[in-house]
Amino acid sequence: MENRANRIRASRAALDREASQLVITWSDGSESRFGLKQLRRDCPCAGCQELRQHPPAPAPGELVLLDGRAAAATGEAVRLEPVGRYGLRIVWGDGHDHGIYTFANLRQFDPGVAG
Ligand SMILES: [Zn+2]
Repeated sequence: MENRANRIRASRAALDREASQLVITWSDGSESRFGLKQLRRDCPCAGCQELRQHPPAPAPGELVLLDGRAAAATGEAVRLEPVGRYGLRIVWGDGHDHGIYTFANLRQFDPGVAG
């Protein structure tokens, strides 16, 4: 059985700054919206994955402080950059830009789209 979702491509990606959303228009004309804060939290780069899986543990008796990177984490996106034909990079307000969001994953995450 063929997976229909694999044949659908993103035809347009844009930032809706007012709604703080990433808007993807697919080749079938449908549209998906993703909250930027959620995307930032789910940043797929190796560094953020590591941080999510193994949050730095404070030494006993030590005050828990967010490190600079976590404290500066923001849902504000500066711009989008295409990555090949398969995904895009989001440059965040704090300068973080390591995560590549593939269209296949975005399409999968969108609860509004049936695969
Ligand atoms: Zn990241």
